[in-house]
Amino acid sequence: MSSHFSRIGDTIVALATPQGVGAIAVIRLSGKEAIQITNRVFFGKNLEEQASHTIHFGTLRDGDRVIDEVLVSVFISPRSFTKENVVEISTHGSSYIINQVLRLLIRQGARPAEPGEFTQRAFLNGQFDLAQAEAVADLIHSDSEASHQAALHQMRGGFSQEIRELREKLIHFASMIELELDFTEEDVEFASRDDLRVLVEKLLRVVENLISSFDLGNVIKNGVPTVIAGKPNAGKSTLLNALLNEERAIVSDIAGTTRDSIEDEINIGGVMFRFIDTAGLRETTDTVEAMGVNRTREKMKSASLILYLFDLGDTDMVEINRDVNKLENIGVPFIKVANKLDKSNNQFISELKEKYPDTIFISAGKKENLDVLKEKVLELVNLDKFRTGNTVVTNIRHFDSLTRTRQSLLDVLTGLDEEVTNDFVAMDIRRSLHYLGEITGEITTDDLLANIFSKFCIGK
Ligand code: GDP
Repeated sequence: MSSHFSRIGDTIVALATPQGVGAIAVIRLSGKEAIQITNRVFFGKNLEEQASHTIHFGTLRDGDRVIDEVLVSVFISPRSFTKENVVEISTHGSSYIINQVLRLLIRQGARPAEPGEFTQRAFLNGQFDLAQAEAVADLIHSDSEASHQAALHQMRGGFSQEIRELREKLIHFASMIELELDFTEEDVEFASRDDLRVLVEKLLRVVENLISSFDLGNVIKNGVPTVIAGKPNAGKSTLLNALLNEERAIVSDIAGTTRDSIEDEINIGGVMFRFIDTAGLRETTDTVEAMGVNRTREKMKSASLILYLFDLGDTDMVEINRDVNKLENIGVPFIKVANKLDKSNNQFISELKEKYPDTIFISAGKKENLDVLKEKVLELVNLDKFRTGNTVVTNIRHFDSLTRTRQSLLDVLTGLDEEVTNDFVAMDIRRSLHYLGEITGEITTDDLLANIFSKFCIGK
């Protein structure tokens, strides 16, 4: 990976659109020679004489052989995504043509790009900071309104701005302390220790808010973990399928056959829910199934939401009371969902409505009242928190750096409490500056960068 950095002078090339057949495909080059290399195989006009941000029609040729009719867009450094010379070639979207064009350009001196190398160059050339570069990847992978919003906010620099402001305040703080260090002989006190304490406490609160937003960020990025719990044949797979609208789980008439947990995601009202279809609450003597049941309890505890599903025709009040009791002990918000409304008796329904007025009655099989259920689901996850314009930490690397920042700030406070000498306080401050700098990339190492960008796809 370190070769990555020594070859920053190369011109790189990759397919920018997805693999496979499409109406058109875009092949992108970036680097000093992007325009010259393309010009050697492009016929129509001289690309080296064209202005930035212009598009040109012509043919790509391998010797006498025409490979394709193409459109070529030219971006001249520094006015491009990578800030280098960039050429985007739109070809017809056949994999044969794509391969031929890539080979042709590589023979002319371009090098196949490594994963994330375009975005990495954009970062190294100062197009944006590290947190923003990471947001490009999140944006490409965002699959719901909430995750899209969070990534967009981060890419536009909202998060970086907040981190930078924090750093500036800390730098100011550090300089006051260090100034004092220079004058210790004269015993001058530039910064009152009380003022310093107030400032550090303020910064600590900001850092802690960011840290606590990670739970929400994680849910936004990965979906709200939701468990469907209920005994065998309650209709869990049927419900999951009805929600997914396709046959992903295996529906079966034999009790207890849904042994493997199946995870699936569905988008409800702009929020992604990760559904975990489970094996049920029932105690069992079958060892294979018992494993499933234990796993179910664990999953229920780690879920943010539980749908407790029962068959109206096969469950009595005693059983429901007992299950509700168990679920209350787990402490995760849950919805009581009565299934098989289509073949139930009215007396039991009235009894239930009286005892548990918040029960949702559905027919998973007939897809009845699913909208009511979805509404209830959204109500319970408190949608508002997904819609705030506030900065939400979605990246575990940022979360780690923030956690370390918090520790160093706490050390600063302890130092102030214990009246340690200024040079120790200054050391702790510099440590927190270091961790904050890791987030936006003011502080980087080759390993860190290689690690981040290798998670991108080729062509990004
Ligand atoms: P699981 O073991 O909890 O996953 O239950 P399944 O989803 O496999 O469903 C068990 C049986 O109940 C299947 O035969 C389903 O077709 C049936 N079933 C599920 N939902 C309904 C419903 O709303 N009405 C009726 N009549 N049958 C249903």
